[in-house]
Amino acid sequence: MFEGTVALITGGTSGIGFATAKLFVARGGQVVVLGRDQARGVQAAQELGEHGKFVPADVSDPAQVKEAFEEALRWAGRLDFFVHAAGNTRDKLVARMDLADWEEVLRVHLTGGYLCAREALRVMMRARAGAMVFVGSVVGLTGNVGQANYAAAKAGLVALTRTLAQEAAPWGIRVNLVAPGFIETPMTACLPEKIRAAYLARIPLGRAGRPEEVAEAILFLLSPQASYITGHVLCVDGGLVPCD
Ligand code: NAD
Repeated sequence: MFEGTVALITGGTSGIGFATAKLFVARGGQVVVLGRDQARGVQAAQELGEHGKFVPADVSDPAQVKEAFEEALRWAGRLDFFVHAAGNTRDKLVARMDLADWEEVLRVHLTGGYLCAREALRVMMRARAGAMVFVGSVVGLTGNVGQANYAAAKAGLVALTRTLAQEAAPWGIRVNLVAPGFIETPMTACLPEKIRAAYLARIPLGRAGRPEEVAEAILFLLSPQASYITGHVLCVDGGLVPCD
């Protein structure tokens, strides 16, 4: 389905981003995975094979982002799709959250999303085609105790998605967001058992999601099957949000 096309995926060396990269390659495309962790990047590239490339970069650093997109274009010669799956957490109650915790999370999710989307947009506008997907979160819609920085960043991504969708539409570029619920990845693996159990108890489908299930939703939104969908927020959460 994606033969002859190229995707760049931030946070593409692990979890949801890596699952998306693998699926994209399995469906015929070439993929550039962008991440900060060199060792994990090399391993991811090995697993992806000749259709995958790792480019190291911190998404919150404008110079590194610009250089990474240039390197991706040198390697692949084109860019059709962009997925922003890089993310971090610094969970604390607001009363205890210092400015560094707040800014670090906003920088990776929201500023990183803007910086990368701006580079992607420049390439896609020249081609007058393309599609992007931001990985948000259900907590960007509902809020979550201990995650004010993360929830605010994810809510910001919804606004960025809806604005970009309007700005980029005249060039035939679509922009959407997936909002995962509780997904089994390195990010959630370190949660205390009590918190895990409390999350799981609230999910109507009765289980955590798999990264591959989010990847399927992302690829749908990138694909021609979603040609009339832009500015949309798609929850991939086992029914969590509608029941909240
Ligand atoms: P993950 O930790 O496996 O993946 C996040 C990736 O982002 C890692 O590879 C990390 O190295 C990379 N990253 C972090 N900071 C970076 C930076 N400054 N520059 C470049 N890369 C950076 O976790 P995941 O669960 O796969 O998360 C992927 C996305 O999904 C995140 O945006 C996360 O907020 C979102 N999400 C996850 C869940 C879940 O339950 N796992 C739920 C909702 C949303």
